[in-house]
Amino acid sequence: MKTSVAIYPGSFDPVTNGHLDLIERGEKMFDLVIVAVLQNVDKQPLFTVPERVEMLREVTKQWPAVEVDVFKGLLVDYARKRGAGVILRGIRAVSDYEYELQMALMNRKLEPRLETVFMLPGEPYSYLSAKLVREIAQLGGPLTDLVPAVVEQKLRAKIA
Ligand code: ADP
Repeated sequence: MKTSVAIYPGSFDPVTNGHLDLIERGEKMFDLVIVAVLQNVDKQPLFTVPERVEMLREVTKQWPAVEVDVFKGLLVDYARKRGAGVILRGIRAVSDYEYELQMALMNRKLEPRLETVFMLPGEPYSYLSAKLVREIAQLGGPLTDLVPAVVEQKLRAKIA
């Protein structure tokens, strides 16, 4: 499990400029960043997993060291399978901390060789979440600066 390979897991429903800020920071730090879309059977997503993957591939294509993949089951099993030694996560505000702490410590218990690395996004993204983006889109609000143009188009088409 290499510390030069990081997995950035999440729902990415849809990818936002906050996610991209983090991916760009991670891409400078690691040899490979695997953006891994969680196939979560419980959730009611807006976009299907293939739609989310397609958008992610489109908006990360300028970074050769960024790969987009899908996983289900335990993240530690997926990390072992991919030979990744790092989980990359973003912390926006104090409110993210408690959940992230719990996840990171549980993942450490399940696989002590796996290290969680937290990064802070740029300030304009510290209040941005995919959930808020979905809500603004559903209410017909402006999405400029929140998501890439291609994601905005897909949101508009999905909601229309
Ligand atoms: P969201 O919370 O927006 O629905 P995900 O569940 O896909 O996003 O989150 C995946 C990871 O990305 C988490 O570690 C989350 O904290 C991080 N993240 C999400 N939005 C941002 C943002 N605006 N800035 C930094 N990190 C973020």
